[in-house]
Amino acid sequence: MALAVTADAIRTLHRMQRQLTDLRDQLEAGPRRVAARTKLVEAAEARLAAVNDEVRRAKIAADQKQLQLKSAEAKIIDLEAKLNACKTNREYQTLRDQIAADRMATKVLEDEILEALERVDATRGQVPAADAELTTARRGLADAKADVDAKTAALTSEVERVNRDLEAAEHELPEDSRDVYRRVVKSKGADGMAVVDGQSCGGCSQQITGNMVAELSMGRVVACRSCGRLLYLAK
Ligand SMILES: [Zn+2]
Repeated sequence: MALAVTADAIRTLHRMQRQLTDLRDQLEAGPRRVAARTKLVEAAEARLAAVNDEVRRAKIAADQKQLQLKSAEAKIIDLEAKLNACKTNREYQTLRDQIAADRMATKVLEDEILEALERVDATRGQVPAADAELTTARRGLADAKADVDAKTAALTSEVERVNRDLEAAEHELPEDSRDVYRRVVKSKGADGMAVVDGQSCGGCSQQITGNMVAELSMGRVVACRSCGRLLYLAK
């Protein structure tokens, strides 16, 4: 009986359309997963670059202090050479004071150099962790890509299969019902159909009339008057 086929067909079509929606959602989730993993790799790359940059700057700072120390030491040697050439005691004393002051300054520089070298070591110590983080992030991205590729192939062939079944099921509909069905699916997709829940539309919960239930029982295509979804009776 053609009419009874119609009622069953809407139920089957709804199931297939939902299946397709679910498969497409899963397909779309793949690139999002890869994009999220790519972001993690980029963040890890940025952190490693920042750590390396910090190491470079700490080294430059230490080198500068060492240069300052060298020139300060050279200046002291210079001043010491001048001590013998002093003509007066006063001149001699002034030079001695100057040398003492410069030696104090070099002591401060030496402390600063130690601190600067410690900073180089400390920042260098952060490199392995940042390196490891990047390696882990890259592996995660590669794994996600491989997984998504494999799933995409499986999902795509599943979509093709359901689409073929769907086409066959759509052919089961009488022509006039098929037009109504196509219009509804075009605007609402899988959400264009709903099961009758007691005496209500399962899509919008609006009550449906007894007459509509009777028509459904006869296998006719009935649309909810409130939301336009095509209805079918629960099995
Ligand atoms: Zn409704």
